[in-house]
Amino acid sequence: AIINFGSINIDHVYQVDHFVQPGETIASTHYQTLLGGKGANQSIALAQAGADVRHVGSIHQNDAYFKQALIKKGVDCRGVKCSETPSGHAIIQVTPSGENAIVLFGGANQTITAKTVMAALDDTKPADWVLTQNETSSIDEVLRQAQEKQLKVAFNPAPMSESVKALPHDCIDLLIVNETEAAALTGKEAMDDIVDEFKQQWAHCEVIITLGKAGVMMLRKGDVINVDAFSVDAVDTTAAGDTFIGYFLSAYSNHTDAKQALKRGCAASAIAVTREGAAQSIPTQKEVDRFLAK
Ligand code: ADP
Repeated sequence: AIINFGSINIDHVYQVDHFVQPGETIASTHYQTLLGGKGANQSIALAQAGADVRHVGSIHQNDAYFKQALIKKGVDCRGVKCSETPSGHAIIQVTPSGENAIVLFGGANQTITAKTVMAALDDTKPADWVLTQNETSSIDEVLRQAQEKQLKVAFNPAPMSESVKALPHDCIDLLIVNETEAAALTGKEAMDDIVDEFKQQWAHCEVIITLGKAGVMMLRKGDVINVDAFSVDAVDTTAAGDTFIGYFLSAYSNHTDAKQALKRGCAASAIAVTREGAAQSIPTQKEVDRFLAK
């Protein structure tokens, strides 16, 4: 199984003519609520890819509908607890040109404790993987306890913050970052310098750097594996990284060869960027198979 300690957010998306100004009140022309959060997106991508995924997280008791939405996608949500704290949510204004402005509230995502982590890892087996991002509390506990249990640990430090630098890096087996996160984590700008820094400071683990439409690079056992992105007409790159991670990790944790697993991740995320939205843009396995057969 893959145990994902991750955020579940409710995205409140408001269509507006322009971003609201200080002191101004404006009417929104369209409103929609969507299931979001990097954690939930990655769990959905894992489930769509066919992985046995258990989500560990927290939402407010009135928002059970969003837990049901995850379950419907095939995610085991027995580790999603109900909290009295408001659910994590984002207030998103979107203008006609597609620009957005976002207020994010961590809420229940920040109520995960060392005890939650312990309970969730209670019946794991050594072949299991643990995955986490940077949108929930007690990440240091997740990394430490997973290592103690000798589980494989994949970490996606997104969104990047200074606190990531203080985490126990030696507990991580697989680090997955995009270019911005890679630069922030290494303190370097040029890709060559970033790679050198990872080779020196992160030699104990495998590192994947996703490069947007330039594809992906993996540093593994002293090798560098490059896989190109697929050429598609991108309309919305939201959740590209989450889709990549879910599809890659599903294959890789199932002992698929690294290069093949990277290719599958790139194919799934290439499909996702041709579609609007986050969770709803993540393709099914069938769609990915068909895309790869072309
Ligand atoms: P994030 O969404 O976390 O910023 P990236 O932008 O690096 O991550 O995208 C993740 C993966 O999605 C890339 O490695 C690539 O395979 C795929 N991808 C992203 N943008 C495009 C694009 N315009 N065309 C094709 N594939 C893309």
